[in-house]
Amino acid sequence: MKTWLTLAIRQRYWLRSYLGYPPVRDALPNTTHCALAALQYASVIPRIITQNVDGLHHKAISHVWNRNQLDSGILELHGTLHRVHCKHGHDVSRNIFQDRISAANPQWHAYALELEKTGNRPRTNPDGDVVLEGVSYDDFVVPECPECLMDGLHNTNIKPHLVFFGESISQERKRRSYEDIEAGSRLLIVGSTLATYSAFRLVKHAIELQKPVLHLNIGPSRADGLPGVQKVDIASGDIIRQVTRAVLGTSAVQDNIIAELLRSGIVKRPPPDHSDEDYSTNRNTADMSSS
Ligand SMILES: [Zn+2]
Repeated sequence: MKTWLTLAIRQRYWLRSYLGYPPVRDALPNTTHCALAALQYASVIPRIITQNVDGLHHKAISHVWNRNQLDSGILELHGTLHRVHCKHGHDVSRNIFQDRISAANPQWHAYALELEKTGNRPRTNPDGDVVLEGVSYDDFVVPECPECLMDGLHNTNIKPHLVFFGESISQERKRRSYEDIEAGSRLLIVGSTLATYSAFRLVKHAIELQKPVLHLNIGPSRADGLPGVQKVDIASGDIIRQVTRAVLGTSAVQDNIIAELLRSGIVKRPPPDHSDEDYSTNRNTADMSSS
């Protein structure tokens, strides 16, 4: 199901997202992303299914993996903030779309530059937008899709490649997620409450197939008490890196790429803000790695 937005909602969405995107664009993988990348590179974890939309699993390994490896190795269950498409399927990178917004809205572009300069950026929430108080969105111009314009259509119905709240994931993505679970011998779940059904059903699928399931997460989750799920109440933090070193043994030291991945990653993440609604928070702190 695709929900296309009215003009007023599009203006509000895109202004908030336009201002919220630079920190998402500039974000760097943390130590967990990099340790999982090391396990992927070493073929211990061939596939990752992520509920995150920030592209950080890609960033952690994109310097040593090609496009095909990225596409087959990482499934973004709920899409990505880094690409947008119009109602007629014309797809473009987010950076190009951000530039189009800047060109169509010089006053907001100047405002964004000012925020960058002063370091006074509003906090970007996990869905990649900011909260703006007391702002009128009426003068914000959502750029038209240039490819539609070449066909004589004026179309500002443009969305990021995200599964919005209330939408379903595509049949293709659903099929692929089941396939990833089936291809693995076991399932490791890192930092997810599994609140969204699209993720929870994959855990159920793994259990039905009698695959061992290990779940690392602090606090309660939807899978608690499910037979077949071994739960460890722990933050992934440095644990994943330590486990990766233990699993990879000498190659963690002797393979330059793996050694570098295990030295990489930012250590601190921005503190979570629990004022966000649960769906966003849950959706953006979850990874499921199947191997
Ligand atoms: Zn178009």
